[in-house]
Parts: sequence; C-alpha cells; structure tokens
Amino acid sequence: MITNSRVAYQQHDHLRCQNAAMHQARTLCARDEVRLTPIRETVLTLIWQSHRPLGAYDIIEQLSESSGKRVMPPTVYRSLDFLLARGLIHRLATLNAYIGCPFPGSAHSNVFMVCRLCGSAAECSVDAINSAIIATAARTGFEIESQTIEVSGLCPACQVDAVGQDGDQETNQDSAL
Ligand SMILES: [Zn+2]
Ligand SMILES: [Zn+2]
Ligand SMILES: [Zn+2]
Repeated sequence: MITNSRVAYQQHDHLRCQNAAMHQARTLCARDEVRLTPIRETVLTLIWQSHRPLGAYDIIEQLSESSGKRVMPPTVYRSLDFLLARGLIHRLATLNAYIGCPFPGSAHSNVFMVCRLCGSAAECSVDAINSAIIATAARTGFEIESQTIEVSGLCPACQVDAVGQDGDQETNQDSAL
C-alpha cells in the first residue's frame, strides 16, 4: 500500500509537501513536454495549500482576491482539466472538490479516506482493492477508465477529539467508480 496518511492527518511541515508536489509537477510536465503555465501552477499551488479538498469556487475566489481582478471560471476549469489529465490532482465527486496527488506519475488507484470533522483526505493505493476492481470489471466485461473510491469517517486526531462527544465513529462508504 502507498499512502500519505501519515502527513495528511497530522501536524507536519506542510511546506515540504508543497515543494515536493510542485517539483514533481514541473518534472512530469517537462518529461511529457507540456506546459505548466503560470495559471496552472497557481491553481495547483492553491490546491496544495492543505490536505483538504478544495472546491472550484474557492479556487476562483482566492485567485480573484490575490490577483485583484475577477478570474473567470472557464480559466480555472481549463487548468483543473489539465491538472486532472496529467494526474497531478484528483476530483472527489461527493465533495465536488479537488485534491493534489502525492504520488503523480506512478500507476495507482485512488482511494481516499476523508475525515468528516477536519476535512483532511489521505490518498491510498492498495493492491488488493485494485485487483478486486480489475477482476470485477473483467467479469462484467467493463472497461475501466478511471476509479475513485471515497471513504468517509474520522482521522486518528479527530477520533481522539470525538471521544466523549457523540461517540459516533461509524464509517460510511461511498464509491464512485
Ligand atoms: Zn502536507
Ligand atoms: Zn493520486
Ligand atoms: Zn480529522
């Protein structure tokens, strides 16, 4: 299993995550000979401001604020499409939001453990889940184009916080395959 759960759910030096993500993005774009234009780079930086998925509306607002002029939604959506296509970000359908991929450029499945209290999302890639999905698709004659599994619950830090409150540590599972 590969995952970034250790950093996603804990206090850490997030600048390292951001620097690593931007370095990987530049390297992959150079390798594939595609342009990481300033707007694409800025959108990716905004998405990497935390481990919480960010909605397109928030990105548009923040961009408009920092640039001092109204940024048009299509501009942002074009950048998001580019980043999605390059595997630099993923879209979480249930939240209608975007999150940076900590391991772009590697073949992996997208399983997200999203904390319903703090909103942090860790990405995991698990061989057993991948093979189960591939086998299921094969049995149904289905051709997989993309897969994203979103699991909702409480991260380790929020489980501690939740003790003595509602005691509700139930985990819901949503799949958008
Ligand atoms: Zn981080
Ligand atoms: Zn990923
Ligand atoms: Zn949490």
